[in-house]
Amino acid sequence: MKFADIAGNSAVKHKLAATVDGGRVSHAWLFEGADGNGALALAVAYGQYLCCPNKANGDSCGTCPSCVKYQKLIHPDLHFVYPVVSSPKFSKPVSDDYIKEWRTFLAETNYHDIDEWLNRLSSDNKQAGIFAQESQNIIKKLNYKSFEAEYKVMVIWMPEKMNPSASNKLLKMIEEPPAKTVFILVSNHAESVLKTIQSRTQLVKIPKIDAQSMFEALKATYNFADDKTKEIVRLADGNFLRAKEVADSQADTVSEYFNLFADMMRHSYTMNVSELLDWADSVTKLGRERQKIFIDYALRLIRENFILTILPEKRESLVYLTDKEAAFAEKFHKFIHQKNINHITNEFNLAHKHIERNGYEKLIFLDLALKTAQLLAVKPQ
Ligand SMILES: [Zn+2]
Repeated sequence: MKFADIAGNSAVKHKLAATVDGGRVSHAWLFEGADGNGALALAVAYGQYLCCPNKANGDSCGTCPSCVKYQKLIHPDLHFVYPVVSSPKFSKPVSDDYIKEWRTFLAETNYHDIDEWLNRLSSDNKQAGIFAQESQNIIKKLNYKSFEAEYKVMVIWMPEKMNPSASNKLLKMIEEPPAKTVFILVSNHAESVLKTIQSRTQLVKIPKIDAQSMFEALKATYNFADDKTKEIVRLADGNFLRAKEVADSQADTVSEYFNLFADMMRHSYTMNVSELLDWADSVTKLGRERQKIFIDYALRLIRENFILTILPEKRESLVYLTDKEAAFAEKFHKFIHQKNINHITNEFNLAHKHIERNGYEKLIFLDLALKTAQLLAVKPQ
């Protein structure tokens, strides 16, 4: 990842880039940052910058072969160490046992925390750590000559979770590092890292994401009004993961889809073509990604309404509707029944496929609404 892909912290990015530009690359860094502020992504971005032959304006190019491999997290000179858990499959686990999960975890977002990582590794509360057997692995990797880049980069996430024997071996390596090797330790609490390791690393404090950068990052991801976005920025307190959690839970997006769904069904039922044209215009404005989400949302509501029709006595246990959706379903569900459910579902799935294939959106949705109108008119018996 490029520095530019990570929200905020421009002063830290400048400082880090300057160490490369000025030939002052420390062989061992200790990045300290709170959850969800991008510290781990910054470590990878630093390695990418270090190895990019086309760096310019304080950032890597993002397109050269080295950057491409870095971005896919498969560069042969980029190594990772992180907490893992034992399992029936891995009784003496090392980081590489979970490399696939790790790449997914890193690629999905630039903001990370240990809870989310551990949730993915195991459903119970197994003790996670960087265990003694990891040090053999580290030694082996660092004894290789670098394959492609000038520098080997080893990112160690959560060094505070390292067991004492692994820590001591790491310390030895940091004291006498192989040539052209850069360790980047990324920690929540630098104070919890072995003192002797602390004293041999260069500490970089990574502050929380500032309000303005958080605002811009949210604006790029969500479609909230400025006021709402500012409210989320306040709640997030510099942690992008928290911001995302709050934003995802906001009802606004869902109620926007609900309104579109309700309008579509009302105008279809009355066969009001001019209203349906306006409706198709508003759906077009969502953009393709959100149109697909709307279709998924509509499919869920249609399915729930169908269940209400065929199994009214099971409504409590089967149907998951918000109050607004339930009030609408009260009158609407009887229009969705065994005679039309499959046809309606097929039409929505077809529209989804056409959106994916870059069909003309307004026409796709107008067509969908008109077909739905015909299908809603089908009698149940
Ligand atoms: Zn590059």
